[in-house]
Amino acid sequence: MSRISRIELTPVAFADPPLLNVSGVHQPFALRTIVQVWTDDGNHGLGETYADDTHLARLEAVAAVLPGLDTFDVNGLRQRVAAVLAKDSGAEVGGMLNLQDPVDVVLSPFEVALLDLQGKELGRPVVDLLGGAVRDEVPFSAYLFYKWAGHPGAAEDSWGAALDPAGIVDQARSMIDQYGFTAIKLKGGVFPPDQEIEAVHALAAAFPDHKLRIDPNCAWTVDTSIKVAQQLTGVIEYLEDPTPGIDGMAAVAAQTDIPLATNMCVIAFAHLKPSVLADAVQVVLSDHHYWGGLRRSQLLGGICDTFGMGLSMHSNSHLGISLAAMTHLAAATPNLTYACDTHYPWKTEDLIKPGVLSFADGSVRVPTGPGLGIELDTDELGRLHEQYLAAGIRRRDDTTYMRTIDPTFTPNHHRW
Ligand code: MG
Repeated sequence: MSRISRIELTPVAFADPPLLNVSGVHQPFALRTIVQVWTDDGNHGLGETYADDTHLARLEAVAAVLPGLDTFDVNGLRQRVAAVLAKDSGAEVGGMLNLQDPVDVVLSPFEVALLDLQGKELGRPVVDLLGGAVRDEVPFSAYLFYKWAGHPGAAEDSWGAALDPAGIVDQARSMIDQYGFTAIKLKGGVFPPDQEIEAVHALAAAFPDHKLRIDPNCAWTVDTSIKVAQQLTGVIEYLEDPTPGIDGMAAVAAQTDIPLATNMCVIAFAHLKPSVLADAVQVVLSDHHYWGGLRRSQLLGGICDTFGMGLSMHSNSHLGISLAAMTHLAAATPNLTYACDTHYPWKTEDLIKPGVLSFADGSVRVPTGPGLGIELDTDELGRLHEQYLAAGIRRRDDTTYMRTIDPTFTPNHHRW
């Protein structure tokens, strides 16, 4: 038996392209916190989470009370997190969502690190601690974005611009050539719906065998969402967050046969009952970063199964520790039948040693080494931490960054 001796929290920044969305545009750097949990016998486990300054402060407060905890005591971990955050509320995650209760989002990276430690102690991969692999490789989707050729004032990136249907099809072709993805997701909410519908139809014509989805992040009214659904029936496998709120989604769902998916109106256990009662969503996008880690994401999977809802997986900009955790979780979740989202192709820097996580035919093979099966590159961790210090960004804010380029910009939330 080993116990936690100390926690190391390292905020890092990594280069991120100018990806457009409903709120504005991605800043030049995305932020993550790398969590290292050390034990009294010299092992360490890894976790990865957001790094907005308020989140970082909560992680630090929790880290202070964890020494002495048994590495297998995940229930004890949650009790300590809840005790520290008892008077806390309103955690923003990923720059777009507001959780009323911060316990699960703060718990997550520590739980993942404990599972990594448990696996290392037992000599088994995390997927085995989650009940065993139901699939050896996990399919991911090509996650397309409207984007500029480069950040203003900086060099063009390797992807180039994508601001119309032809640009989106080119981007899809490039990503599928490199990674082999068999599903495609378009991030919408950037242009009026007709232009984004045209892009989806262009993708369907260019990739007739691929599963398609569009996610406008609640840019549309209920009426517009119903009209878009009519035009995309038979073309997309699900429609993600067309309009805000459980009531709005329920009103759209009542008028279309296309399953509605969400990572915006059902983002915590408290949202499940009202959503099920209203039949508002047919696919929940899980995300272990705010659903409380891998075990509680499996609990979510069970609830979705019980109530006849599908399960997919959401992603924010992330690094390799998160990709490993997502892959172990997805491999151990029988009813996760959709290709998972990932921003991984968009990053050009990472801090795990290469060779374990790679894409073949759009899928990542589940790591077989003990724990998460990955190794931290401490030189890269240090470099990306220096980059965090130099970049000066302390929270994700796509709207403020967009306004430095277009002062008249207002978010497109519920705009069309
Ligand atoms: Mg989404």
